[in-house]
Amino acid sequence: MLHPSRRQIRVHGIVQGVGFRPFVYNLAHSLGLAGYVLNSTAGVLIELEGAREQIESFLRELRENPPPLAQIEDIAAVELEPAGFERFMIRESVDEPGQLAPVSPDVATCADCLHDFLDPANRRFGYPFTNCTNCGPRYTITRMIPYDRPLTTMACFPMCADCLREYEDPSNRRFHAQPNACAKCGPALSLSLAEVRRLLKAGQIVAIKGLGGFHLVCDPFNDDAVRLLRERKKRSDKPFALMVPDLAAAEQLCFVSDAERAALAGIRRPIVILARRPDAPLSQSLAPGNKTLGVMLPYTPLHHLLFGGEFSALVMTSGNLSEEPIVTGNREAALRLKSIADAFLFHNRDIHTRVDDSVARVFAGAERVLRRSRGYAPHPVALNFPVAEILACGAELKSTFCLTKEHHAFLSQHIGDLENYETLVFYRETLDRMQQLFRIAPSAVAYDLHPQYLSTKLALEMTDLEQIGVQHHHAHIASCMAENGISDKVIGVAFDGTGFGTDGKIWGGEFLVADFAGFERRAHFRYIGLAGGDTAVREPWRLALSYLLDTFGARIDALDLPLFQRVPPRKIATVRSMLERRINTVETSACGRLFDAVASLAGLRDEVNFEAQAAIEFEARALADVDATYPFEITGEEVDFRPMVEQIVRDVQAAKPIGWIAAAFHNTVAAVVVEVCLRLRSAEKIHRVCLSGGTFQNVYLVERAARLLGAAGFEVFLHAKVPPNDGGISLGQAVIANCKLRSCGPGDNRETI
Ligand code: ZN
Ligand code: ZN
Ligand code: FE
Repeated sequence: MLHPSRRQIRVHGIVQGVGFRPFVYNLAHSLGLAGYVLNSTAGVLIELEGAREQIESFLRELRENPPPLAQIEDIAAVELEPAGFERFMIRESVDEPGQLAPVSPDVATCADCLHDFLDPANRRFGYPFTNCTNCGPRYTITRMIPYDRPLTTMACFPMCADCLREYEDPSNRRFHAQPNACAKCGPALSLSLAEVRRLLKAGQIVAIKGLGGFHLVCDPFNDDAVRLLRERKKRSDKPFALMVPDLAAAEQLCFVSDAERAALAGIRRPIVILARRPDAPLSQSLAPGNKTLGVMLPYTPLHHLLFGGEFSALVMTSGNLSEEPIVTGNREAALRLKSIADAFLFHNRDIHTRVDDSVARVFAGAERVLRRSRGYAPHPVALNFPVAEILACGAELKSTFCLTKEHHAFLSQHIGDLENYETLVFYRETLDRMQQLFRIAPSAVAYDLHPQYLSTKLALEMTDLEQIGVQHHHAHIASCMAENGISDKVIGVAFDGTGFGTDGKIWGGEFLVADFAGFERRAHFRYIGLAGGDTAVREPWRLALSYLLDTFGARIDALDLPLFQRVPPRKIATVRSMLERRINTVETSACGRLFDAVASLAGLRDEVNFEAQAAIEFEARALADVDATYPFEITGEEVDFRPMVEQIVRDVQAAKPIGWIAAAFHNTVAAVVVEVCLRLRSAEKIHRVCLSGGTFQNVYLVERAARLLGAAGFEVFLHAKVPPNDGGISLGQAVIANCKLRSCGPGDNRETI
């Protein structure tokens, strides 16, 4: 070569565990370039030597046609003196201290692998742990970075000669596929899949070890099996998710749009919430009170093979006891799930990191994640400004934490409700690991203002860090801003079930004017009494009574309402006196409690078995073609629903259908959103609105509010990449804390790197 040129190239982003090195190797070979490629803890390092034009072609190809699973953030190239490389090689991985390399989330089985294990002539026929550089386990098996087999839970499976040949052959799809395996050398199952199918057919419940944890599996067409699972799992009404073998099977049970098809069949394979076909012959106990079903497609070879053409759907719910974390170990499963499962299907590839199934839903024109876990975590949320190294501890329900560094926000996978010891252990363990994996040493810790949250207590124990308390609804809005790349002031509408306010009351029907630097609470739902704390949240009739007392005062005695027949007078008298004398009663402006009150008043249900159950069922009942709204008043900062309650009482007395009341109620809440935003816009000249908080998982409400706001000329921002519920709180806490640390003023966050 006449004038060889040498270039050193560093590639950052998700570039490990995604077939990057084989891609680079093949590309360099095809262009006749010498040099090497290696994984480092900072990303991928490449050196190329050869003709200048060929190096340019290489870079162009890398930018324009990278491997399908790679997510390149940047490519930096520097010119070096030629070193006389003779050929191109893949070198050993190196560790660059302090550097950051994102780890790939787990990836659903690719079409090529599917073909391999379904083809009787292929040596992987029927092998349930088939994978390649384009698919397979990643985050769940990674112990440390760089992502190399010895640092994964595949370390204990030495490859057989055939697998090793593939692993070392640059032209092979399994070239440097770290979890590469076959029946001869790789992980194995404890039972035959034919046997498992026989058990499921017989109505048994089987605990099956999967990718990020165990599932409890049974036949969804068998009413006894589903009811038994419910009973044993001590889960009264919460819907169970289904796995179906393919898209066609999903369409047998549900209505599926193009966007939903894309969400179902993508590489992340979340549970997708779909509208259920009313005639789907499934057990009534599967998702009582719901018009929707959570459905996912198989994401490992084990799942694909499990169906064996014999089932059109299987119940696949997390293998855990009620609200505890999902079980990952064989021994742990045998112990903790023995009261639920009739049989176990184990395998011997260890799950290093516990990861639940993710949940997504398509609404307001986009796929939106509601539980961010497998397939998403630990992929960072990209920020358009640099951040300090911060830990944000999240809230209490659906908890996640967030670690920030450079311009990344690493949200943990969904951890669950921090109410029991097991979940707290899971939280701590995940925090340790992610800090190690991403080499983040936070200088500050952000936490919710609620003094009783375990996440808050955890943060306050970290006395060596700067501690920054963040108001719950401010965090919701900042989270929505951050994922949408906004730093200027917005109107923030934060509706949820509970969040500690700066006045010590329970907020949740909030209108803020906010940026990362701070917020002003500009309007909120009128406070009402919440009698009996957590009990009130389980008994929506208490909220109905509270709203009635607030609306009618002493006139309540003259009211003739079905509610007073359903709830024993003794109970009503007790709660009424608690409310009147403010005994064990806190004040709340939470939107979730308004939903509870109206759902109970309308006769839907007076007690719930899980958080937001009344609201979810009330939404499901809302008729589609009702445009009416109820009256309300806005006085100063207070949104007063008493005129609405008065009218609803009359409607209930006139026996108006629940579905009509539900629709008119939803319409009213949407109208309140628009009315308050209009007032704030004329006062503040802000036309951007962020909608956040668990209530905005309500599709009827969010779609109507977003449509009306859009029609009124607002620019509306919703969540898509992080959940609108408390699972997204940690992101908001982190960006607010970052702003405080860097004492940024309004707008200062706009800097990009
Ligand atoms: Zn594959
Ligand atoms: Zn093998
Ligand atoms: Fe919240």
